[in-house]
Amino acid sequence: MIYADYNSTSPLRPSVLASMEPYFCEDFVNPLSIYPQAKTVREAIENARAEVARLVGVEAEQVVFVSGATEACFLGIVGGALANEGRKQLLCSAVEHPAVLQSCEFLRSLGYSSQAIPVSETGELQFDALLLALGKDTAIGSFMLANNETGVIFPVQEIAQACHAQGAAIHGDGSQAVGKVPVQFPNLGLDFLSFSAHKLGGPKGIGALVIADNKKYCPMLVGGGQEQGRRGGTPAVPQIVGFGEAARLCRVLLSEYQRPVEQCRDLFEQQLLAQLSECVINGQAVWRLPNTSCLTIKGVSALDLVQTLGGLGVMISAGSACSSLKAEPSHVLRAMGLSNLDCLSTIRVSFGPDVNKELVSELARILVKEIITARMSLEHDLSSRLVVGQ
Ligand code: PLP
Repeated sequence: MIYADYNSTSPLRPSVLASMEPYFCEDFVNPLSIYPQAKTVREAIENARAEVARLVGVEAEQVVFVSGATEACFLGIVGGALANEGRKQLLCSAVEHPAVLQSCEFLRSLGYSSQAIPVSETGELQFDALLLALGKDTAIGSFMLANNETGVIFPVQEIAQACHAQGAAIHGDGSQAVGKVPVQFPNLGLDFLSFSAHKLGGPKGIGALVIADNKKYCPMLVGGGQEQGRRGGTPAVPQIVGFGEAARLCRVLLSEYQRPVEQCRDLFEQQLLAQLSECVINGQAVWRLPNTSCLTIKGVSALDLVQTLGGLGVMISAGSACSSLKAEPSHVLRAMGLSNLDCLSTIRVSFGPDVNKELVSELARILVKEIITARMSLEHDLSSRLVVGQ
């Protein structure tokens, strides 16, 4: 099996699984119960919170546990916009994840207006367009730290400065960046940061919303007042503990794996480009994640290729995972100016921390073989139709 779809999700690391295990059947009590048995569980949650906080350079109190990045983006954007009273405009980029786009859509139904800032053909944010759109009515801007399909990294620090200069709040979607490149919240100048545990070796169903000190925030999920009134609901203890362990591992290991992952990704791309004609790497020339390769391969259906590879035990993605079952051109690639046809011929390969040269060479070999076969069968198909048509 070759798994190269880490931007979609990642396997649990063994020590993460081990850390979670006691909290299912042994230490299962509700952490908010008043009997002494609950104290151990509360401590486990607070240790995990401290680890997640350390990973992104904040104080533990700034971390709010939520069900994942989708919820964190929603709470950050909606909670941040409503708290910035009197302002009714939202800004985001044209290549945001649906978690952000749909949160803006929700606010539109409450009377907000929203504007998507375009990107260039390399996937970079058109900063002039952002400056032009920002104004005294902008409630919040939401921009991703790194794109899930192309890996292109946005200059979030500059974006945050521009938003703050106009009195707007700023939310960063860190789902793809945290755990792959160093992310230090205080250096970025953000008000809110969202990310999910399962993208960085932790369990699914848990994520974090980081809130800047004293930032005005309007809680959406109130319930029993958990998470200091910022997100109600009984804490998902095993997931939180697993998130803490995954965060600890990322913090300790990131500097060891970041560069080797990039070298493997680059080797993979070199091998493909050397053997395939009409193959383009989107975002190659700009600042991007070390693990991601977004490839447009002419004359190939990405969906068919992904399915064929799946049958061979090789897992990659066509565009983003969320839209991979629909043959719809990716909005990210469309925003970068790709034709519909090129969008449908684009695959995403994303590696994890344990990638090595043998794995990428084997993946490149299998991919080249399947692409050549697919192209030959398309050619054959077309020429037989031509004969029939004559
Ligand atoms: N934001 C980005 C950039 C993502 O890539 C994803 C997931 O793919 C999300 C948000 C949503 O994360 P989750 O599905 O864990 O809630």
